[in-house]
Amino acid sequence: MFIDFHTHRRILPENSVEIISVHPGKQSPGDWFTTGYHPWWTFEKLSETEFLVLSEASAKKGFLAIGECGLDRLKGPPLNVQMDIFIQQIQLANTLQCPLIVHCVRAFQEVMDVKKQLGKTPWVIHGFVRNKILAGQLLDKGICLSVAPYMNMPVSFRETLEFLPLDMIFLETDSEYSLSIGDRYKIFSELRRIQIREAEKIFFDNVCRFFTWKEMMLRDGLNAVNY
Ligand SMILES: [Zn+2]
Repeated sequence: MFIDFHTHRRILPENSVEIISVHPGKQSPGDWFTTGYHPWWTFEKLSETEFLVLSEASAKKGFLAIGECGLDRLKGPPLNVQMDIFIQQIQLANTLQCPLIVHCVRAFQEVMDVKKQLGKTPWVIHGFVRNKILAGQLLDKGICLSVAPYMNMPVSFRETLEFLPLDMIFLETDSEYSLSIGDRYKIFSELRRIQIREAEKIFFDNVCRFFTWKEMMLRDGLNAVNY
């Protein structure tokens, strides 16, 4: 079974499960979802109503984490506004004791700092494509990484994929849909010289462990899926 750790639309290719990230208040098209205010589309600190919509979504079946939320230096409102919105969602994740799915573009130091100050639950930066030095710094802070391997990757990203510890990472398809999640498992397995079966087991366990607070439900749900 392939698990797509982060995507925004349901494709459901064969032998796959998708964790879909939806905007708060929107119905998830899949069984498992995360929800949060994305820095591209949120321009002011969350109102009481917006915060309530997010809290309510978290009570729904299949909810796994807050996010994606985070910081983007290239898009969205000024970084200080993004930080206020991010902190509101970090605090909600702390209250719910659930993980946080983080979007981060050129604000890695800020994310590491705020994680140290306020983060009390597991965090993952999704769509990570940077070098292994930065990857190492984030992992040292206890932040997991989700990656989307593809063909003809730049050397720095390939090195990152060769270096990443197998127990702190996930595979995803977000923002680039030309390859299926199965293709990405294949590319990753070849790069790390492991069997696809082994990769399936590793990522299954990583996902269940990362979402500890829903682990039993997730394990039962995934095991009940018939292929
Ligand atoms: Zn995304």
